[in-house]
Amino acid sequence: MRAAVLRGIRAPLSVETVPDPDCPPDGVVLRVLASGICRSDWHVWSGGDPVPMPHIPGHEYCGEVVATGPGVIRWRRGDRVIAPFILACGTCPDCAAGHQTICADQVLPGFTAPGSFAEYLAVPHADANLTALPEGMAPALAAALGCRVTTAWQALTGRAALQPGEWLAVFGTGGIGLSALLLGRAMGARVAVVDVVEEKLALARTLGAEAAIDARAGDAAEALRAATGGGAHVALEALGRPETTAGALRSLRKLGRMVQVGMPAGDHLTMPVPMDAVYSGQLAVFGTRGMPAWRYPSLLDFLGATRLDLAPLIARRVTLEDAGAELAAFDHPMPPGIAVITDVAG
Ligand SMILES: [Zn+2]
Ligand SMILES: [Zn+2]
Repeated sequence: MRAAVLRGIRAPLSVETVPDPDCPPDGVVLRVLASGICRSDWHVWSGGDPVPMPHIPGHEYCGEVVATGPGVIRWRRGDRVIAPFILACGTCPDCAAGHQTICADQVLPGFTAPGSFAEYLAVPHADANLTALPEGMAPALAAALGCRVTTAWQALTGRAALQPGEWLAVFGTGGIGLSALLLGRAMGARVAVVDVVEEKLALARTLGAEAAIDARAGDAAEALRAATGGGAHVALEALGRPETTAGALRSLRKLGRMVQVGMPAGDHLTMPVPMDAVYSGQLAVFGTRGMPAWRYPSLLDFLGATRLDLAPLIARRVTLEDAGAELAAFDHPMPPGIAVITDVAG
């Protein structure tokens, strides 16, 4: 099969012919229909999230089942499916309790296993993790339901319990930030965003952000507190950087909830945090990572009921050959929207 292979930190991805994946006994092999390109892939490419080389990145995908293992009950050839980027074992005590994102036996395509920048992808534990592609949803959009949309959904509903009428502050309007904006608006929240790219701020305004603050212009947290009449109820950090993490905490009103969604990596594994804001504001701080597969119906029902259009998320449809350049572009502030590989076969 064709795959985009990473052979060293910050090396250009090379599109090569590699062996097809074997089908796991309790899993499936998917023909990849679409694969999103995410900042977490950039962490792998740039060495902030080290993986053994050579490696195939890619962790948010939509695919068609082409092979099933003998232990698979729910799926057959031809099914079109999505999966969370965390593939939980499905059987351990944490999985049984519904906490698949902390499963100790989790498999992470694109990180701990070959990923979806390829024609074919092996997905273990298929019965526990796969969800059918919703009727009428394009694979390119569905790919974003593997990481960015699901991560934002879990952050807002599974962690911070965002309520209608509350102010949501979103720091960073990349894929997760845009997803949070769209979901938050559809949930009836008022949304303010912070970024440093004018086109992204302009897009956020057109998608319903009531305030779009340019962090280059001064103290973004102070501007947010002013724009929201005293501070946001919920702040979501979507970059994993010290200035945005501190800003998110300082943007909250008292008893506010902050969700750390961006992954601290590389130089930012530890960072200074304004604990005075946590103490004096009596804030709650959540970490979150991914979404358990059992929560897909809640998200898909919400998307159906609200008719929320996720299409504004997707800015670029690219080929496998373009994946390397898209990853390298995360070195700098990015234009609005996400890139999705929709042509893996070439
Ligand atoms: Zn991701
Ligand atoms: Zn488990």
